Amino acid sequence: MSIDVSRDHFEIPAARLPVGYEAEVVVVGAGPGGFAAAIQAARMGASVIVVEKFDMPGGVHTSGLQGSADGEVGGIHAELIARLEAEGYVYTANEQSHPDWAGNPLTHYERFKEAGSPFTRVTFNPEGAGCVMSEMLHEAGVRTLYDTRFVDCVMRDGPGDATIEAIVVENPSGRFAIRGKIFIEGSGTAELAARAGVPYVSGGGGQPDTAQWDGVERPIPGGLLWTMSGIDFSAVARHQRDARDPFLQKTIAEALAAGDIPPDLYRPKMGGKGVYGDFYIGHPTLDMSPISADGTYVLWQNVPYELGLHMDESGEDQALAIRLLRSYVNAEAKFLRKYVPGFEKAAIASVGRFVGVRDGRHPVGEHVFSLEDVLAGRRFRDAVTAPMTKPFYWDGHRKHEFEVPFRCFLPKGVDNMILTGASLSFTYDTLFMVMRNFPWCMQTGEIAGFAAARCVAGHLGPKALEWSRPYFPVAA
Ligand SMILES: Cc1cc2nc3c(=O)[nH]c(=O)nc-3n(C[C@H](O)[C@H](O)[C@H](O)COP(=O)(O)OP(=O)(O)OC[C@H]3O[C@@H](n4cnc5c(N)ncnc54)[C@H](O)[C@@H]3O)c2cc1C
Repeated sequence: MSIDVSRDHFEIPAARLPVGYEAEVVVVGAGPGGFAAAIQAARMGASVIVVEKFDMPGGVHTSGLQGSADGEVGGIHAELIARLEAEGYVYTANEQSHPDWAGNPLTHYERFKEAGSPFTRVTFNPEGAGCVMSEMLHEAGVRTLYDTRFVDCVMRDGPGDATIEAIVVENPSGRFAIRGKIFIEGSGTAELAARAGVPYVSGGGGQPDTAQWDGVERPIPGGLLWTMSGIDFSAVARHQRDARDPFLQKTIAEALAAGDIPPDLYRPKMGGKGVYGDFYIGHPTLDMSPISADGTYVLWQNVPYELGLHMDESGEDQALAIRLLRSYVNAEAKFLRKYVPGFEKAAIASVGRFVGVRDGRHPVGEHVFSLEDVLAGRRFRDAVTAPMTKPFYWDGHRKHEFEVPFRCFLPKGVDNMILTGASLSFTYDTLFMVMRNFPWCMQTGEIAGFAAARCVAGHLGPKALEWSRPYFPVAA
C-alpha cells in the first residue's frame, strides 16, 4: 500500500475490505444488553453474530467484576441466574456469614443499615459467569467472535434515515467487514451509534449540583473494580472496634505519615459534599462488598471526579484513568496487608479488564426518556414492559411508577439499529442509579433481540414495527 505522508497526517488509500461474515442480526458487544439480544434473536430463528472485544460475555458484570445477582425480572435474566446457581457460581452473604457487616462504614451497599441487622447480598462469580454465558450463546446458535473489536461502520445514505450495510472489525484474522440486516448497539458506550452518525449527548451534560464547586460539568465518575481474597473480615471488625477506628481514618493517617499511600488514594469528598453519595465523588475510606466466596471481596476505585475524564471519547483520558486507578489498586492492596489486621494473608485476586464508564454517550432516539417522563408518570402506547415502580435518585429516592417506550431503543438518523442497555436513549439522570442495572439491561437486550428477529421475519425496519403490547407483561 502506498501511503502519502504529509507533515501532520498520513493519506491512506481507500481499503478493499473482505466481508468475513454475514448474518441477519449483528450485535456489537456482549454485555448484558448484547448477550440477551443475541440469544433472543437466535432463539427466534435469526442468524446472529456478536463481536466482543474481551474474552468473555457479560460486560461490566463479568469483565468489569460487578457480579451483582440481586433483582428478579424473569426472561433470560432469570434463566441465567438459575443456571449460575445450578453451576455453583452464586454466593450469598448475610448476617450469619457476616455478623459484623450491616452498618459497617467500610461496606459499599450495607453501610446505612442498622448495625448487625439482617441483610442479603447475592453475587455471582464473574469469571464463572463469563464461562456460562459463553456456553449459553453457543447453545442458542449464536456465532460469537471474542477478542474482536468493532472499529467502524459502512453506511448507505437513504432518502430518510441512513442504513448500516456492514460493520468493520479487527481481530487476529485482520480487519474485515460483517454484513447484516439489523445491527444491535450493545457496546455500553454507544460506540456503534456514534460511528454510524447517530446524534448523542456526551456524559457530564448539565448535571445537578456541580455548579456549587466551579460550574464545570463532569461525567458521573467511572470506576475500576478489583477483588481480594483471603480476607478475615471478623479480624478487620475487631480492629475497627479495638482501635476505635470505624472508618480506618487513624490507620490511614498513620500510613500517610509514613509515606506508604499517596494522598489522593483516600481523597476527601469535594467541598465536603457527597453529590453522588460518598461512593462516587470522594473515596474517603475503604469501599468493599462480599463476592464469589467466603473471604473474597470486591473493592471500588472511582475516577477522581474533579478530573472530569471522558474515557469513552478520549484515549488520553482512558490512559490516564487506567494508570491512576491501577496505581491506587496497588497502593491500597499494599496498605491493607501492612496496616489492617485481617488483611495479612489477603491477595489481589483480579482487577477488572476495563475502567467502566457510568456516564458515557447518551444517543438521541425517537424518544429521549427523561426525568419528566418519570415524574409525570407518562404512559406510552409502545411501552416495552408493564409499568415499573422504582425510587429515583434525583428526586430524593422517591418511588415513581412509569413506562419506557420502544422509541427509546430507536436511534435518530439510522434506520436499522436497535439500542440496548446503557446505550438507550435516556438522559443521564434517569440512567444513573435506576435504569442501568444488570437485570434491566438484560431485559432491554431481550426486547431488542425480539424486535430484531421480528424485523428479519417481516422484512421490516425496526421503526416500522407495530408495538401494541409490552414484551414483559409483568413489572419487575
Ligand atoms: C464501575 C461501574 C459500576 C457499576 N455498578 C453497578 C451495580 O452495582 N449494580 C448494577 O446493577 N449496575 C452497575 N453498573 C451499571 C451496569 O454495569 C451497566 O449499566 C451495564 O453493564 C450496561 O450493560 P451494557 O450491556 O449496555 O454494557 P456493558 O456492560 O458495558 O457491556 C458492553 C460490552 O461491549 C463490549 N464492547 C465495547 N466496545 C466494543 C467494541 N468496540 N468492540 C467490541 N466489543 C465492545 C465490552 O467489552 C462489553 O463486554 C455499574 C457500571 C459501572 C461502569
